[in-house]
Amino acid sequence: GDLDVNVPVRSKDEYGIVIRTFNDMTLRLREAEDARRRLVADVAHELRTPLSIMQLRLENAQQTGQYVPPEMLLRLHDEVIRLGLLVEDLHVLSLAEAGRLALDCKPLDLSARLEQVVEDVRMEAEENGLEMSFRSNARPVTVTADARRITQVFINLLTNAIRYTPKGGKISVVLEEKVLERNARYACFSVTDTGIGIPAEELTHLFDRFYRVEKARSRHSGGTGLGLSIAHHFVRAHGGFIRVASEPDRGTTFTVYLPVPSSDTLGPSWSG
Ligand code: ADP
Repeated sequence: GDLDVNVPVRSKDEYGIVIRTFNDMTLRLREAEDARRRLVADVAHELRTPLSIMQLRLENAQQTGQYVPPEMLLRLHDEVIRLGLLVEDLHVLSLAEAGRLALDCKPLDLSARLEQVVEDVRMEAEENGLEMSFRSNARPVTVTADARRITQVFINLLTNAIRYTPKGGKISVVLEEKVLERNARYACFSVTDTGIGIPAEELTHLFDRFYRVEKARSRHSGGTGLGLSIAHHFVRAHGGFIRVASEPDRGTTFTVYLPVPSSDTLGPSWSG
């Protein structure tokens, strides 16, 4: 392609340095261009299936020239809703990937917020034959965060736990404060399920957009394949990170780490 330029480096002087820098920049441009192309291809692929389903149903209705049964309208409506969610997810994901996600950060009591969301989804979990629990070792656990985005992260993880755990399973949410290396304090919340798990070799791709373990199975579960990418980018935008541990047929734990502002960086005694 246009960007396939790689100048051979022969000299070790300034010329060599300039040429190496040039080659390096060309490589990075090419990577960005490849990423953009992949995104467009992925989006086209994801939109194609629901669109052709709707097209077929509408054409069928037209050809028979008959009254459209309400259940068909319902299914069409479901597809439209799914497409709308996909477009919305893609929009926030592209903002987050570009580092342009606007965050409305305020002090947020994670224990109260998580407990509230757990209560909100408990019914749905129980309807799926799942038991839910919430435990917090301290309260309040206060972080500086955009409540709406962090809630979204939590909901994405909970929704997956419900989706990928068979009847009779358990979902436990734990919130705690941890001190990691260099005395950095983190608020950590984890979502553990007793579900189908994820094979070790799939874990590295898990946060890639549209990545699904065993495509056919996940396609029917109603997700967009963007939930974990969005969670990853939202958490990173807060200066945090996500860890995952999983064992096939036993279950999965996702843990979100959010930095807790340390009080001594605020105090007057701090001299850097
Ligand atoms: P989806 O909309 O397909 O759920 P996600 O980005 O949320 O997309 O998740 C990506 C894939 O990771 C899922 O398709 C599924 O294969 C796998 N996955 C996510 N969470 C879990 C879980 N708790 N247990 C097992 N597999 C999971």
